[in-house]
Amino acid sequence: MDRASILIIDDDPALRRTLDDILRAKGHDTLSAGSGGEGLALVRDNPVDLVLIDLGLPDLAGIEVLNRVKTDRPATEAIILTGNATLDSAIEATNRGAFSYLLKPYDVEQLLLNIERALGKQRAEEKIVRHSTELEKNNAELKILHELSLAIGKTIDMDRLLPEVLRALTHAKIFPFDMRGAIFLVEGERLRLASFATLAEEFLAPCRTVCFDDCLCSPVTVPGEITISKDSREDRRHTVCNPAMPPHGHIIVPLKAIDKVVGVLCLYTPPEVELNEEMSSLLCSIGSQIGVGVSNTMLYEETKTSAFHDPLTGLANRRFLELQLEKLMEAARRYGNPLSVIMLDLDHFKRYNDSRGHVEGDRLLARIAAILLREVRSADYLFRYGGEEFLAILPETGPPMACEAAERLRKAVEAESGVTVSLGVASYRKTMADKESLIRRADEALYRAKENGRNRVEWADKSDEKGSL
Ligand code: GH3
Ligand code: MG
Ligand code: MG
Repeated sequence: MDRASILIIDDDPALRRTLDDILRAKGHDTLSAGSGGEGLALVRDNPVDLVLIDLGLPDLAGIEVLNRVKTDRPATEAIILTGNATLDSAIEATNRGAFSYLLKPYDVEQLLLNIERALGKQRAEEKIVRHSTELEKNNAELKILHELSLAIGKTIDMDRLLPEVLRALTHAKIFPFDMRGAIFLVEGERLRLASFATLAEEFLAPCRTVCFDDCLCSPVTVPGEITISKDSREDRRHTVCNPAMPPHGHIIVPLKAIDKVVGVLCLYTPPEVELNEEMSSLLCSIGSQIGVGVSNTMLYEETKTSAFHDPLTGLANRRFLELQLEKLMEAARRYGNPLSVIMLDLDHFKRYNDSRGHVEGDRLLARIAAILLREVRSADYLFRYGGEEFLAILPETGPPMACEAAERLRKAVEAESGVTVSLGVASYRKTMADKESLIRRADEALYRAKENGRNRVEWADKSDEKGSL
């Protein structure tokens, strides 16, 4: 039998003493009160499981005492024990939530049986409340993990992923404090502020990039464990902080993907916030889930970049050119805007390679790419078309301006690299069926530039008057 705390409220001291002895002998703790007021005070100040209430009390009616007990402590059970039974009071007691209604003089066996049943009911109810609280908590935890996985599944674009993740976190009411947070991503030897939620941007200005040996966030990346800082003013590790920010604490969660930390989730909490084991383990799961999402997105972005970029020159490659040119031609077709391309090829590059070696040849290509990139306007696009050929797309540019631009490129390369280039210029016409036609015309012009002695610019359609579309 489990030990319980039982209160006897009866104005008969002899009865209280006897019951006290019986119940203690059964292993229970007892409290006793000779009046309703005294009894209610004991209920208020002690964790009482069961109250035995006499109906005829000197100060309050027993029914009133029962009523207040059930109102203030609904989990406490009550048994009425009366020498003055009436049908009305029995019905009233039952309606007010009494477990049973017994008559004096009581039969000890019957009383004990009633007490055990009442306590059994009370324990079962307590258990249900405990379980349902636990279930609710587990549900909330599952919900946040689910919402995070939805947010992560929604996009593979880092600029959208992080705000989605922070939104899911700040909306979840799973922690006993407001979720205000920022995500920092590892970039080389630094952490870069990548996204933040419900925080004013000016507060975060000093933390845009944080070196690995600075402040609270960075050390988290090494052992990959959660760090808690209770007060921004007291914690000496907290070196990068805006003094205008109100006092706060931090919980810093590593974002782990398999074996490495790809960033940190930095939560801003009120000062002195505590983190128990369950919260820690939930935050660990959250950190891992975000970490995997971030790592997959990084991988996707890297693949995308490598698929569209030329590693030698750092320029976009031919695959990207095709996508871009398609879009720009479509816009030119729709809005009737001019559009030109310049195809550029190094002169006698084979000789250069043969005399200086392939590695020097590579360096020259990278140097020329840098010169070209500097010379084109910011609205233009530059691509490495193939081996030693480059292609520039010039939106909003007709033949005269495009030829001028080509001439500018030619001169810059010659002056700065010591080698020469030949260039072919072509402009979009409504009659062109596709982007290949435009490139073909630039290529034909380039061929003519080679034939006509190299180190020169040729316009695609000589029969056209230069400068008209
Ligand atoms: P032309 O003036 O007629 O264009 O003569 P060229 O020698 O430049 O042209 P050709 O097409 O005969 O030779 C191109 C050379 O460019 C041959 C090839 O080995 C070299 N090449 C292509 N891609 C690369 C590269 O990535 N690195 C290096 N170093 N050389 C390259
Ligand atoms: Mg060449
Ligand atoms: Mg060539």
